[in-house]
Amino acid sequence: MNEEDFDRKRRILIERLVQVEALRNERFIDAMQVVKRHLFVWDGHEDYAYLDSALSLGETGQTISPPHLCAYMLESLSPETGENVLEIGTGSGYMAALIAESIAPSSMGKEAWGKLTTIERVELLWEFAKKNIERAGYMERVDCVLGDGTLGFPPLCDVELYDKILVTASAPTPPTPLMRQLKKGGVMVIPVGEKHSQQLTMFIKGKSGEVETLPIQRCEFVPLLGKYGWR
Ligand code: SAH
Repeated sequence: MNEEDFDRKRRILIERLVQVEALRNERFIDAMQVVKRHLFVWDGHEDYAYLDSALSLGETGQTISPPHLCAYMLESLSPETGENVLEIGTGSGYMAALIAESIAPSSMGKEAWGKLTTIERVELLWEFAKKNIERAGYMERVDCVLGDGTLGFPPLCDVELYDKILVTASAPTPPTPLMRQLKKGGVMVIPVGEKHSQQLTMFIKGKSGEVETLPIQRCEFVPLLGKYGWR
């Protein structure tokens, strides 16, 4: 397939996501149009990049999330231009690029840009994602960190640093260090539940620190491992 085929397939996929109302907001429709998923799939999987399915990330045993889930995550997290965002579970770097394009749109001047920090615990994926994020043009907007994301970043820092936090692996409950690093008025989106079935859930931290919980939809993510995830 050439670039034109990829562009056409991407447009068709996005039309479908809009039709089923997974994607609603113009800004996120644009972000999914701008970020080329075929730059983030495992070698040899490019032709499948615009199917609405999860794809395997080779021998790492991890997966790149399906586009409809990426759309739901964007819509519920609702990253705004200029915000400071944390993602746990970089994987391929695709979701990271979508968030980066939302908080720091390519069409805007750099003075308006926000910043994404993304954490991955598997070294091979950290390297893979950095390469993908770089060739897609997002290196300046994304900090890639290798480590246990359940500790937050900087690890166990007790300051409310982030407007939004997205966890793209499933946990029994939202990790406490992450909740501490979320600003008041901020939103954390994370799949919570059992190992093989979860509910993508929004946790909204109120002005006095109280937390409201809003379920979004059933889903199945790979487990969040680490100190405050699955052991
Ligand atoms: N967002 C990714 C898909 C993530 S799959 C994408 O767009 O491609 C979930 C990822 O979370 C896996 O890569 C897994 O290695 C990672 N992960 C699991 N536990 C983690 C932890 N404690 N800290 C950081 N990453 C973790």
